[in-house]
Formats: sequence, structure tokens, C-alpha cells
Amino acid sequence: MITTHMNGYVQEGTAQAASHRERAVDCPGDESCLVKPVHCSAQMERIQHYQDELRKRREEDSRGKHDIDPNASLRLRKLAQNPKVGVDNPTFEGKEHTTKDAITDLEELLQAIKWVQQYLSDARSHQDAELLIQLLANDDFKCAYSIYTVVSQKMNRVNPTSPLTAQAQELCLEVQKILQSSQQKEGLELRALLTNPHLQALMQAHDSLAVQEMAEDNVIQYLGKTVKMVRLHKTRDTPLGATVRNDMDSVMVSRVVKGGTAEHSGLLNEGDEILEINGISLRGKHVNEVHDLLQQMHGTLTFLLIPSSQIKSAPHRQTVMHVRADFDYDPSDDPFVPCRELGLSFQKGDILHVISQDDPNWWQAYRDGDEENQLLAGLIPGKCFQQQRETLKRTTPDRSREQQGKRWYVKKNKQQKKKSTSLCKNAESEDVLTYEEMSLYHQPANRKRPIALIAPTNSGHDELRRRLLVVEPNKFAVAVPHTTRSARIHERNGREYHFVNRQSFEDDLSAGKFIESGEYGKNLYGTSTDSVRHVVNSGRICLLCLHTRSLKVLRSSNLKPFVIFIAPPSQERLRTLLATEGKTPKPEDLMEVIEKAREMEQDFGHVFDATIVNAEPNEAFFELRRLIEKLDTEPQWVPTSWLC
Ligand code: 5GP
Repeated sequence: MITTHMNGYVQEGTAQAASHRERAVDCPGDESCLVKPVHCSAQMERIQHYQDELRKRREEDSRGKHDIDPNASLRLRKLAQNPKVGVDNPTFEGKEHTTKDAITDLEELLQAIKWVQQYLSDARSHQDAELLIQLLANDDFKCAYSIYTVVSQKMNRVNPTSPLTAQAQELCLEVQKILQSSQQKEGLELRALLTNPHLQALMQAHDSLAVQEMAEDNVIQYLGKTVKMVRLHKTRDTPLGATVRNDMDSVMVSRVVKGGTAEHSGLLNEGDEILEINGISLRGKHVNEVHDLLQQMHGTLTFLLIPSSQIKSAPHRQTVMHVRADFDYDPSDDPFVPCRELGLSFQKGDILHVISQDDPNWWQAYRDGDEENQLLAGLIPGKCFQQQRETLKRTTPDRSREQQGKRWYVKKNKQQKKKSTSLCKNAESEDVLTYEEMSLYHQPANRKRPIALIAPTNSGHDELRRRLLVVEPNKFAVAVPHTTRSARIHERNGREYHFVNRQSFEDDLSAGKFIESGEYGKNLYGTSTDSVRHVVNSGRICLLCLHTRSLKVLRSSNLKPFVIFIAPPSQERLRTLLATEGKTPKPEDLMEVIEKAREMEQDFGHVFDATIVNAEPNEAFFELRRLIEKLDTEPQWVPTSWLC
């Protein structure tokens, strides 16, 4: 047995559970467990008794409010058989306007228009009246009008804000099942109607609203506490999406996860105590038992809750923030993720859609492209939290990760919010890589993004650039570099190079005007941002072959480069490729290329927009062209700061 202190409560359990403060209940990926027999305590029996009373009251209420018409299906059949709907139906007799009356109304209207028509002098009005007469005399129109009369009266009798059921979807499925074997025309038609996605979406919306409507009736006072009964519908496709924690012998809702039924319904809130689910008492149960219990439950779940006493702040306007992860994250390797089942793994460079920052330590997010498959949002470390723990890791290298994490938790719990913010600022200044906010950007046709090919020497990126320039010289160009050497006889200033004196070069260099520079034969050479901009302004795509150290200047230059990493293949393959160029590198040289690439990837992988492994030069070339063409057809994620 292990005991873990968390936020003022104690959780006891197995080693696995102890490392997680919360337990996901009904989240995809949970393993099925057997239901254990459950016994109610005396206290719970009292609540149950009250609950029974409540149920009775509700049943009585609903009987009073909504008469269930046993003739409903009969009427439906008549509706199908008889176009003069409901003529003989007793439900619509008496004071109500019957379909007979409706037809009489139409007749009267028809006569009136005929009468008016005689007095119309102009041909146009005469024609309009004739059209109306034809319409009113049409049998289909009469039938439609009768249906409208009946339905509108029925609608007026039932208060549309009082739902009869929150299980319209379930009923719909039941009817579909019954109709499965039906070969009748009406059966087939009804089945087609019920399987229509729009109708299904309508029912889903209905059920969500109905659950909320019904819940409002279910708040009662019990022993001085407000006890709320809520119903949620749980299926295999729609998980509840909540985590629970123990607080003494109580089971509390710890977190409501975006995308689940709990969140959609708005009925379960953080801090609610769950007294019962479907009459099964939860007091005294361990969160693991609750998890197992919920695994087995499907259909309508009735929760008896003591709502959280915390005053709820106005719901935040949930705006999605798109970020690029600048670090790898594996929840199975993180002892501090509050609920491992809900942890979202990602790799640096991945785009994440952050949909909730309600808990600043653990954001809820989807990975770009996974939204369809991932029903529930996953937990990722919040930016500040990640900065803080990374900083701690750096400042206390001799301590184990677990110890560092505990230290941080203690700190955070003890300190005021203000302090925590300053911690975050300190961490930021240490340049810990966390997330960068991103936005979609579609390059304009007349201002193409420069393509920066990044690779260690001998990875073939120069050759790829050369091929692009040869194949499409009007589309691609290189920036004219600066040099301090003198111009040769055939060279022109601004064509081969910008020829400048050393002082001017050095001034520009210290002013940060060069993306890259180097010395060769006592002369300085370099590519300036202005030279790249010149190519961009000409409407062509500027091709750059760069080292990773140039990325910082280039990315902060407002040139919006698209960065492609050209990775070398295996050592053996690299040796073969270099041999075709007449090069005979030593094994240690080959190893150095591969090691350099690994380092580049490790330190700058988060800013690479794409990676091409140059194992087959032709394939790499086609892939490069495909990526470049994609910039014209699809928007790409770029740092939001580039667009400000
Ligand atoms: P050359 O003076 O013969 O035109 O070029 C000599 C060498 O200068 C080239 O082989 C290359 O290594 C270097 N060089 C030429 N242009 C640039 C440039 O834009 N940047 C850097 N860093 N080196 C360059």
C-alpha cells in the first residue's frame, strides 16, 4: 500500500494507482473489469429512499404533464394510409379544429377568391388569382394543409420545452432494429429517414438538451445539502470522459474531459461528489472500484450528486490555441501526469490543438489530424508547468526526476499564485523549449516562402538545390551573396556577388543583416536577408542551403522560410552515394555526417517543417518538389508571431 499526498487529500492504493491522483472513468482504452457486488450503507439507504421519492414525484409529474397516447402508432398508420389525416381520430375531436374544419376553411377561401376574381380587371391580377384557385383546389395541397392543422394543434398542446425523453437516439435505434426485417414500403422509408445523418444529429442535439432540461427539475434539498440527480447516456462510442478522485471516503469528480458525454451535457462538474450511480452507493469506494464499476455500465446512468460548493466562475470563452510542441512527451514515462490513461503523447514538431487551459498545469488537447479518431481530449503539460519542471531538472541534476517533481508540487501548493507566475518567468528566461503558438498561413502567389535546406555537409542538399535551379530556372533562384574579395574580370557587382569592403561587411554582420557568413581565403562571404528578400519580391522561390546556426536569424527575419531537413541515409548507403560523385570518405567521416545530422535533429527538429531522408536522390528530389508545390495549394502552420 502506498500513500500519496495530493491537494489536501490522501489517496491510498496500489503502486500503479498511487502514482496517479485521478482515475479516468469510462475513457477509451480502459480495460474491462468485472463488476464487484455493491452494498449500500445505512446513510446511503436514506439517500436512496429520498431518491425513490424523487423518482415517484417525477413519474407523477410526467404523467400529469404528458399523456402518453396509446393510439400513437395507430394514428401513424392511418396517416400513411389515409391522405385525409386524422379525420376520424377522436384525439382531435371536440373543441379542437379538426381536419374536416380545415378542409371547410379551404373551401371557403377558394370560394372567396373565385368571387374576388370576377371583379379583377387587369390580366395580371386575374392570373394570380387563378394560380391561387388552382393551388387551393389541389388534393396534395389540401392534404398537406390538413396535416399542418393537426400537427400544429398537437404542438400547441405539448409544451415544447418539456422533453418527454432524453433517449430519442436510443428509441431511434430500437425502431431501426424492429424495422430491419420489414420489407414494406413504409418500413423501408422510415428506416431511410431514421438513418439520415441530419435526423440523427437532430436527435443527438435533442437528447443533450433534454438531459439538461430534465436535470433542472432534479435539484432537491436533503439534510441541508443540495442533492442533484442527473442522467447521462453512455454508449461505447460516446465515453463519459471524466476523472474521479477520493476525498476521504467520498468520490469526487476531479476533471471533466472535453469531448465526452459529461462535458457535452454540462451536468457533471469538477468538485461534485458522486453519491450514487444507478442506485449504487459510491461512498467509501476507491477510485479504482469506481472505474471498474463504470466500465460495466452502459445506457442511461443516473448520478446522485452533491454539487460542488465552489462558486463557479463564468465559463471561459473556449478558444482553441494551436501550438507546435518543441519537446517530446510520453505520458507513460511521466510520473506526474494526473491521469495516465488520458495523457497524450506527442513528438517535437507535432501540432497540437489546445482546447482547454482551465487547469493551467494540465491542458487538454488533440493532436493535429487525430481529431476524428481521438474521442476525448488528452492531457498535456501546461506551458508554465513544463517550463518549471524542466528548469528544476536543470538546476538539480543530481536529484531523481521523481524527487524534483515532488519538490515542485510542494512549492506550488505552498506558494501564492503570484510566486508561481514569477517562477514561470524565470523558467522562460532560461529558454526552455515548450510550445510555440501557431497559425495557418497560405503563401500569396506573388510572395513565395524561401526554402531553406538544412543538412550536414555531404548529405546532398546542394545537389538537390542545383537540380531545382536547372529544372525550373524561372521559378527558383538563389540570393546573391556578399563578399569582400575583388571582382573577377567576368563578374558584375550584384550578379555573382555584392562586392563590398571589409568594414562595410563587418558593420552589416554586427547589425545582424546576414543570415549566414564565413571566411574563405582571407575573404569574407555571406548571404544577407535583403538579398533573400530581393528574390522573394521578384516572385521567385529563394533556395537556401544552410547550417542550423542560421535558423535563428532567418526565422526572426519575417521572410517566413519553409525549413526542410535533408537527412543522410545509413552509413553504407551514404558511402555508395558519395562514391558516385567520386568521393571516398573514411568511415569516421561518414559517421561524423550521421552524428552531425542526429545533433541537428535533436537541437532543431522542432523548427523543421519537413524532413527528407536522402537515400534515393531521385525520390528525394520528387519529394522536395511535392513539398514545395504543396505550399501553393495548402495553408501551412507557421508561428503566430510571424503574422503579427
Ligand atoms: P569564390 O570566391 O571562388 O567565388 O568562392 C570561394 C568560396 O567562397 C566558395 O567555394 C564558398 O565556399 C565560399 N562562398 C561563396 N559564396 C558564399 C556565401 O554566400 N556564403 C559563404 N559562407 N561562403 C560562400
